[in-house]
Amino acid sequence: MKITRQKHAKKHLGFFRNNFGVREPYQILLDGTFCQAALRGRIQLREQLPRYLMAETQLCTTRCVLKELETLGKDLYGAKLIAQKCQVRNCAHFKNAVSGSECLLSMVEDGNPHHYFLATQDQNLSMKVKKKPGIPLMFIIQNTIVLDKPSPKTIAFVKAVESGQLVSVHEKQSIKQLKEEQGLVKDPEQRRRKKRKKVSGPNPLSCLKKKKKTQDTNSSALEKKRKRKRIRNRSTSKVLSEKQNAEG
Ligand SMILES: [Zn+2]
Repeated sequence: MKITRQKHAKKHLGFFRNNFGVREPYQILLDGTFCQAALRGRIQLREQLPRYLMAETQLCTTRCVLKELETLGKDLYGAKLIAQKCQVRNCAHFKNAVSGSECLLSMVEDGNPHHYFLATQDQNLSMKVKKKPGIPLMFIIQNTIVLDKPSPKTIAFVKAVESGQLVSVHEKQSIKQLKEEQGLVKDPEQRRRKKRKKVSGPNPLSCLKKKKKTQDTNSSALEKKRKRKRIRNRSTSKVLSEKQNAEG
């Protein structure tokens, strides 16, 4: 059982590594519900997560998640202790804390640039995470940690990139935006005209032949100079050696 579970995880990890640049140490963002499930399942996250993912892992959370756990009181005291031992990653809610789920969702926005894994038991949050491509999702089922298979949205995204649809659309948009922002919409046409003029100018081959001839004469002259220098060097070295001989 354990081996097949690890095999699946390895396969999914490979997918995320190849297509989304996920790298070790894996950054796993935990919320209160995941901490609570780990506590109930008596799962030692620090030991079992690296063993399951066969890699170094970093357990992280946010200030908003910690604040939420504090407000929820004694029932979640154990979960709070687990979350407090995680690294606290900066979120955008420095002044006004938001709910844990809202905060974690904001951490993986804009294509999940920090390559976070999201670990939660909150099905509502999971649904929202699955709608964004490229976020590895983890949860606990029956006292075992599970890395979810890539979501349909994630797989569709990868296929679109592979077929060249998505990238070209992205490129077109970004190029259009850049042109419009910098007022360069007319300039590219002018550049094209200039390039055409250059091509239709004097025959580049004829230029090359002339240059070669001049280069040849130059190089032969240089060689002569080098030879002269060498001779001079020999003579100076001879003189030096003779001097040394005379002194010795
Ligand atoms: Zn936050």
